Amino acid sequence: MSNHNDFRLKQLAAPLFEARGYHLIEAHFTAFKEMNFRWEIRGKNIIFKVSDYLDEAPDIVIQEFVKGALTYIFGGRHVWGKAYLDYTRSDAFILLKRPVYYKRGRRLARTDVGEFRNIFDAVQRLIDRGLLTEDDIQNTLFTWTSDPTLTRLGYCTQMFRIVVISCVFDDPDIPEDLFDFVVYHECMHLRQGYRPFNRTPHDAAFKASMHLYPGERELDQRLHDIPELYKKSRKNILKNQSIKN
Ligand SMILES: [Zn+2]
Repeated sequence: MSNHNDFRLKQLAAPLFEARGYHLIEAHFTAFKEMNFRWEIRGKNIIFKVSDYLDEAPDIVIQEFVKGALTYIFGGRHVWGKAYLDYTRSDAFILLKRPVYYKRGRRLARTDVGEFRNIFDAVQRLIDRGLLTEDDIQNTLFTWTSDPTLTRLGYCTQMFRIVVISCVFDDPDIPEDLFDFVVYHECMHLRQGYRPFNRTPHDAAFKASMHLYPGERELDQRLHDIPELYKKSRKNILKNQSIKN
């Protein structure tokens, strides 16, 4: 199946592949969960698929994306054009495509309101302490996970400005200062902004921003206690339930 936008993608990308000595036989916008691209080489023919998050992007944005993708396929320095970066970092793009991404996300509670805690209260405390600014969190979606994940306490999808926090923190027995610290960590990824296919999220600049957090080292250490604290807390809840029953 081909539609208008796939046709447009092929028209825009074909000359760029041609310049690398490949004939683009098919191009598709595809419902990948993450912003991504895939390709298949058959001799001198190539099939190219791009995440459908770009299906409504202006021509220049698509061309710049394809140029960036070509450096991953055929080698070269990864340079992302200004039009591509401006477009994908714009509020308009985020508002347009974030709902699509959000719908594809699994194990999300899709709310920042918990049973005992709200993520936004942590954000507000961080703002009050001067650790975060309103700018850091503008146009951002915060949500709990639906399952208590202990391996990944939080993550940030920079492209769509979504911060996900493990619902293990929605528990009065988990110290609030650890909760705030994890929320701060993810918000520092928001401050970094979207950087296409960047593989070093915890670079020197990021670490420097983490060092601004009072008591960072000790808090980092105490994060290791969370699985134990969580297990204990669950046991207490079960005990209280059986007493009630
Ligand atoms: Zn991180």
